[in-house]
Amino acid sequence: MNCALIGFGQAGGKIVDALCGGPETRWITAAIAVNTATTDLDGLDHVPRENRILIGQARVRGHGVGADNELGSQVASADIDEIQHAIDRMPTHEIDAFLIVSGLGGGTGSGGAPVLARHLNRIYTHPVYGLGILPATDEGGIYTLNAARSFQTFVREVDNLLVFDNDAWYSAGESVESGYDRLNEEIAQRLRLLFNAGELRDGDCVAESVVDSSEIINTLSDGVSTIGYASESVGTDDGLLTAVTGNNGSTDGLLGTVTGRNSPDQGESVTRLTSLVRKATLGQLTLPCDVASADRGLVIATGPPEYLSRKGIERGRQWLEDETATMEIRGGDFPLPDADEVGILVVLSGVTDVPRIERLQQIAIDSQETTKQVQATADDDFEALMDTNGELDALF
Ligand code: GDP
Repeated sequence: MNCALIGFGQAGGKIVDALCGGPETRWITAAIAVNTATTDLDGLDHVPRENRILIGQARVRGHGVGADNELGSQVASADIDEIQHAIDRMPTHEIDAFLIVSGLGGGTGSGGAPVLARHLNRIYTHPVYGLGILPATDEGGIYTLNAARSFQTFVREVDNLLVFDNDAWYSAGESVESGYDRLNEEIAQRLRLLFNAGELRDGDCVAESVVDSSEIINTLSDGVSTIGYASESVGTDDGLLTAVTGNNGSTDGLLGTVTGRNSPDQGESVTRLTSLVRKATLGQLTLPCDVASADRGLVIATGPPEYLSRKGIERGRQWLEDETATMEIRGGDFPLPDADEVGILVVLSGVTDVPRIERLQQIAIDSQETTKQVQATADDDFEALMDTNGELDALF
């Protein structure tokens, strides 16, 4: 499935940059990074320079918006034409969807990503997906409050919001830098597999059951999605490729190379795949949730084709159907002949029972009430002050 990627803000830019610099990039038709901070854009390695868009120069002069997501939203609205010009340079006729990636706890992406989603949805008929990163709870109140507000708007403006919760994935004691790199790789690995799955071209090993773009689009039809991934090494005899010599024993009769892997036991392959589906679903979701609340799902198996047992994928798919009590669970495979592990990707879409989101929504409601109360108190104080002034005026 061909996607146009837009990284909004620092986290969004870094994740898009990691995707562009990683393996398996053919699903990325074009990538841009949008930011209000020059240093963040300069720090990218793989997004082409001409696709790094600095917005808000008139207001913040390249210094960023702090964690002020209202300002982030204002500068995105004011400079939407600059972003549109960059999108105009993309071959949009080749894409199947837009994907806007953003951290929801900061300022630029948190405020700007929903503005861009609304804009793209008005102009294009392609689906517009969001990938929203929730902050870790120890980042502090302002990040949580920003995320609570941004989430509500972003989910309304996109066709589907894929969510990654830093809080569920962050390990205490890890440095922020290496922590984010690891988290970004978790995200990148899932996106690559999901959007590459239907992208087979000449010379590729053909899947037994291809997951095409329409199946991904139907799975991501609306609401919030969470993605699980689990894998297991199937190794090689010695981890090296073994050369095969021709019949005459001479090296110029080389047939090519094959992996020194033992041929797999079918029963084992079935068990491995079904247990990977459970592992991906029950312990490896980007946004932990009650699995039973999902509306739709997708299971993609990847790895060396001889390990991708059709029966195993079907058993795993059926297990997910039982867990979610929905018939809308799609499945397929994405063979990678040179891989040394078998992996399962599970997408759960339209999930509604998500404790972290419920907590965020409560925070947004509480903060609205507090704002109303503060406003009411300020109005009372102002009236009292005016009355006092009136009394003072009467004295003179
Ligand atoms: P912005 O540039 O103003 O949009 O804000 P940032 O993107 O810097 O930060 C927003 C939030 O994103 C932070 O509060 C973190 O929770 C998260 N974040 C920042 N950088 C990364 C990153 O590289 N990876 C991940 N997973 N999260 C990040």
